[in-house]
Amino acid sequence: MKTPCYKPSLTERLAALLFPERCVSCRTEGMLLCPRCFRSIRPNIHPVHSNPRGICSITKLYTPCHYHHNPALRKALHHFKYRYYKKVGYYLAPLLYRTLLNDLPPPGTHIVPIPLHKKRKAFRGFNQSHVLATHLSSYIHFPVTPLLKRVKKTTSQATLSRKERRSNLIDAFTLCLDNPPPRTTPLLLIDDVCTTLSTFKSAAETLQNHGYTIILCTALAQA
Ligand SMILES: [Zn+2]
Repeated sequence: MKTPCYKPSLTERLAALLFPERCVSCRTEGMLLCPRCFRSIRPNIHPVHSNPRGICSITKLYTPCHYHHNPALRKALHHFKYRYYKKVGYYLAPLLYRTLLNDLPPPGTHIVPIPLHKKRKAFRGFNQSHVLATHLSSYIHFPVTPLLKRVKKTTSQATLSRKERRSNLIDAFTLCLDNPPPRTTPLLLIDDVCTTLSTFKSAAETLQNHGYTIILCTALAQA
């Protein structure tokens, strides 16, 4: 797969003159993820799973890459999430697209980003899942529908044990009821990294409780 070709705005071009971008992984000057580091990100051997780990609310799970086996991806995700490099999402979305091509979601699917709590989103300035969803949509041409709302300010999942992750997410999500798509619509939940699947499970159960039955999930990396 080719390295994505980003078309910068005038402001971004001017900023690049003053502060040249460097690859987040190898520090080569020119772009945030250089072609060599992008090509080094190896795909998962088994990227598609039906009802993963017996979770019946998740119809299918797509996991393009393994988090721990890909140093360039780990660094890119770190800059994306914790150093607020929003543009990194542009470079990573093709990895999602490549994996979806193995087993395309049904026609009419809506992409649903996993939401952040409004306070966390205000702090970061963007929802990284929504950024990925928007860029993925430009490849796969499914609409992005922010159908879920995070109503509970949860502790970061990365800091918790498996048991704590499950309880942390109880009643974390609710449905945005302004003009939701019909209940027969297939939904593709999108997140950046999944570990125990607790977040996907909680979000999928919320959607299932509101009548949705085809719930696909994808995250860039499985840890
Ligand atoms: Zn590089």
